[in-house]
Amino acid sequence: MSAMKEKVTPHLRSLIQDGNEAITSQFLASTADSEGKSIFTTDDPLQEEEHTAVKGLVHKYGNRVLWKVSYRCAAHCRFCTRLRQIGTADGDLGLEDIDRGIDYISEHSEINEVILSGGDPFFTPNETEKIFDRLIEIPSVSVIRIGTRMPVHLPSAFSKNFLSGLLGKIGSVAFQRPIYVLIHVNHVDEVTKEVRSVIEQLRRLGVILLSQTVFLKGVNDSERNLKNLFETLYRLGMVPYYIFRCDYVSGLERFVCDIRDERRIMTNLRRELSGLAVPTYVVDVPGRGKIPVPLEFWSGVDLSGCMDFDGQRVLI
Ligand SMILES: *Cc1c(COP(=O)(O)O)cnc(C)c1O
Ligand code: SF4
Repeated sequence: MSAMKEKVTPHLRSLIQDGNEAITSQFLASTADSEGKSIFTTDDPLQEEEHTAVKGLVHKYGNRVLWKVSYRCAAHCRFCTRLRQIGTADGDLGLEDIDRGIDYISEHSEINEVILSGGDPFFTPNETEKIFDRLIEIPSVSVIRIGTRMPVHLPSAFSKNFLSGLLGKIGSVAFQRPIYVLIHVNHVDEVTKEVRSVIEQLRRLGVILLSQTVFLKGVNDSERNLKNLFETLYRLGMVPYYIFRCDYVSGLERFVCDIRDERRIMTNLRRELSGLAVPTYVVDVPGRGKIPVPLEFWSGVDLSGCMDFDGQRVLI
């Protein structure tokens, strides 16, 4: 298994230099990264490799596919579920790979949604643009989603030539067909003034903005922290979509929180926040998919009774 290299942008570096612990813990390597390593034994609990139809394309749920545009990101998050891949050239797609992906999607008319992911689709705008151009020509694809953390990693890129072609293209179709942009944000301190202007810019483009968050020990695992984050995002015009339990990937042990604390926090937030500002709390159960965790509003709910979408019992 390859160790993911440390990589931060100048924007993140300045937050780290200001002594921001939430940012430091997410981006700088720690001795704890390897200390806990024997606890989780797999580097691909989501079994993405098994569900890879053609290079880069993960087809796990019937009507939608996840397309990894590359394994490259502007910065490397230490808790990345794709620790095994990020920062390598292995995920780079050639023109034939893009052709194969497009053919697969065209031939499977049950696929009506494509989620561009990675790596970060905004970090490799040329490849993403090529894919985007082809996708909008496929009649059976009615929704395009883009998962990104670039606004948080490298907000300056959004006002540069680097992204103007791709953003222009997105803007030109966004009012005919919905483009959902999911921004990965974990802590309110990530929402700097530069990041706020990217959010404004994306809203003006006409995309629909959602957020995704991962529960991270010592970073955001408190009610106050997450309340602050979700309220802030909601007020900026983003709908918090998911909060994930950190995946059991070897090397991520230091980030995994107690599931009882997570449930309690999400239950309290459900009481306190606008319904629209509360993301769905899910655990990506190895090999099964994203299963929502029940909150504490019902008596007699037993976590050992978790079932997947096929009604099979699973252990979490
Ligand atoms: C997360 C994910 C999706 C999207 O799932 P939603 O619940 O619709 O957000 C699709 N495919 C794969 C492989 C995923 O991991
Ligand atoms: S941006 Fe996403 S894919 Fe890239 S390192 Fe961070 S969590 Fe992983």
